Amino acid sequence: MDYSKIRGYFFLNNKYIKASKANIHILNHSLHFSGSVFEGIRVYSGVPFLLKKHLKRLSHSCDLMKLDIDLSIDEISKIIFTLIKKNKIKDGYIRPIIFRDSKSMSPDVSRCESQIFIAIWNWKLLFENKSKISLTIGKLKKMDQRFFPIKAKTSGSYQGSIIEKYNATLKGFDDALMLDSNNNIAETTACNIFWYKNKKVFTPKTHSILNGITRQIVMKILKQNKIECIVGNFKRSHIMNADEVFITGTASEIVGISKIDEKKYTKNNMVIFLKDEFEKLKSLI
Ligand code: PMP
Repeated sequence: MDYSKIRGYFFLNNKYIKASKANIHILNHSLHFSGSVFEGIRVYSGVPFLLKKHLKRLSHSCDLMKLDIDLSIDEISKIIFTLIKKNKIKDGYIRPIIFRDSKSMSPDVSRCESQIFIAIWNWKLLFENKSKISLTIGKLKKMDQRFFPIKAKTSGSYQGSIIEKYNATLKGFDDALMLDSNNNIAETTACNIFWYKNKKVFTPKTHSILNGITRQIVMKILKQNKIECIVGNFKRSHIMNADEVFITGTASEIVGISKIDEKKYTKNNMVIFLKDEFEKLKSLI
């Protein structure tokens, strides 16, 4: 898909404009220094899913990356509802992004102003045609909060993920599983990871991952159903002995893992249960 060909209306700096006219200058600070923050929000049956949670995270990401938005969360919500209506979106994806203008070409951003852009398009799922996906363990490590404001969903945090996704695809895998700087399991290039073993679910601590909104929803479902979920630091041998592995994220929802490198996972019970529960939540909106 060529995203530059999307038609319809976007929102750029206080105006609804035609998608083809939503352009910025090539000497843009965030393009050169990767300083933008963004969100990915799903629209199901014309309604944005978990909108407030995403906009709260966006606002927190702005604080961490020293960006300001002069719109409140309620104002951004209204704009999003207008975009859904204007573009007649039923099942889609919303991408708000806050970035800097062109008033600096150095790390000094004291004169830069923040800009807001919101795009929307029809979209189903990231791994749309696959019931399960394969992972390979990547070489580059995920940074942690000693090096980077890891709680911010910022463009800068994806550099290692881009390289590892590229390498994984070249090797014939769907995605890469990344480790933290101490070789504990972290997350995939754009999703959180869980595994099921001895009737318990396991997932990594949040020091070097994005604490995904879907991750939090899955943990809530597990709690409500009295299924123990252990959050900790785990080496790769722990996941290699699991019965089931799955990933979570807004764009992919919940997807089972067929293999990590040569280790295959054939069971599906927990993934099917969680997918069903997630569908129930979606139908409540
Ligand atoms: N980790 C990373 C690195 C991500 O990019 C995403 C997608 N936002 C996630 C995890 C999953 O987060 P969420 O469930 O909030 O989409």
